[in-house]
Amino acid sequence: MMELAKRLYPISRSLTGAGVRETLAVLSEFIPLEIHEVQTGTEVLDWTIPREWNISDAWIKDPTGAKIVDLADLNLHVVGYSTPVHLELALADLLPHLHTVPEIPNAVPYRTTYYDENWGFCITHERLETLIDGVYEVYIDSSLTNGSLTYGEFFHPGDSDEEVLLSSHVCHPSLADDNVSGMVVAAAVGQRVSQMSDNRLGVRILFAPGTIGAITWLSRNRDRVDKIKGGMTLVCLGDDQPFTYKRTVFGDRSIDRAAALVLGKDTANDLIDFHPYGYDERQYNSPGFRLPIGSLMRSQHGQFREYHTSLDNLDFIDGAQLAASVDAVEHIVTTMDQNRLYRNLAPYGEPQLGRRGLYQAVGRAAAPQSLSYAMLWILNLSDGDHDLIDIALRSGIGFDRQVEAASALEQNGLLVEVGER
Ligand code: ZN
Repeated sequence: MMELAKRLYPISRSLTGAGVRETLAVLSEFIPLEIHEVQTGTEVLDWTIPREWNISDAWIKDPTGAKIVDLADLNLHVVGYSTPVHLELALADLLPHLHTVPEIPNAVPYRTTYYDENWGFCITHERLETLIDGVYEVYIDSSLTNGSLTYGEFFHPGDSDEEVLLSSHVCHPSLADDNVSGMVVAAAVGQRVSQMSDNRLGVRILFAPGTIGAITWLSRNRDRVDKIKGGMTLVCLGDDQPFTYKRTVFGDRSIDRAAALVLGKDTANDLIDFHPYGYDERQYNSPGFRLPIGSLMRSQHGQFREYHTSLDNLDFIDGAQLAASVDAVEHIVTTMDQNRLYRNLAPYGEPQLGRRGLYQAVGRAAAPQSLSYAMLWILNLSDGDHDLIDIALRSGIGFDRQVEAASALEQNGLLVEVGER
């Protein structure tokens, strides 16, 4: 996974352009992706696909002719979507176009000017403070042309027409946790779910530029979105922090409860409520769509020192953390997939399990994690209001054991599957 992260990290990604295409081409080596191109000027919901931005060279030379900043060293040095420029100007006129992080003097910030025509450079504050008076030469060889916005889509079908949606943004240049980590984890999850066979839910993974990419996908799939049972944006999943799951706007959909079940075992993990800021869960949870999409993170959006700076580099993420993130996502998805809502067909008193060969703990107390005990929980709570995730959360009995117990009860005619709660 770190090898893939190393390949993706240096690519000059933005909302549109060659960097996004190259990124999707690399990901396509690992999972099958359907690539979509949507032309500049296309209206998508309340937005319009912007012109395509590409960049090949950019630098600033100081009054002595020395390059003080060069795109070739780090793609964060140029403000994303900068217009082409080639001019000479005094330091005082250059300064408004230079961005730094004064509180982290050795970090280069990440800045964009997507929807406002401008240009700029990002440098360390340390470097800014050494700049001498005089005339500077500024060069940005970029292009803003009619082209297209690119996104990629993976889909592994299930037995039903319902599906889980996982979403990763692909628009950030050299930033490792936000969000090379999300792309790498999503690709690995795609490989894992490709091996699933008896899954009821399909799994869709969207690799799209932030905000406008999700909006474009939603605008082109309006007739299909009611098939999405839940999902997550995958962001900041390679750092050394425990997990944070941000709930959907509903707060109690199967994705929310599956995440609580999987992540709640470790008290270091955090479950937080929805708020309309952060990543593309904002678009999915908007009132016109109301898709139950949460967000899985380690460090939270905007809440860590390295966020949107050159310090969010490959040293900030770790292969073991990425791998544990893949396990967590897979576990949450399979829990959603295996979740069922049953009704107890013998609800008056307990049915006689022993007569059916279902009660093993004859003459002694059922062990807390035993199959028999799981059956008693399922029979008690299968009143049409509690699904298997609810029962696992309340009983503390593992979800796999619940699935096994429910299957035995169903085979003995004691349970029937009903719709959703
Ligand atoms: Zn970001």
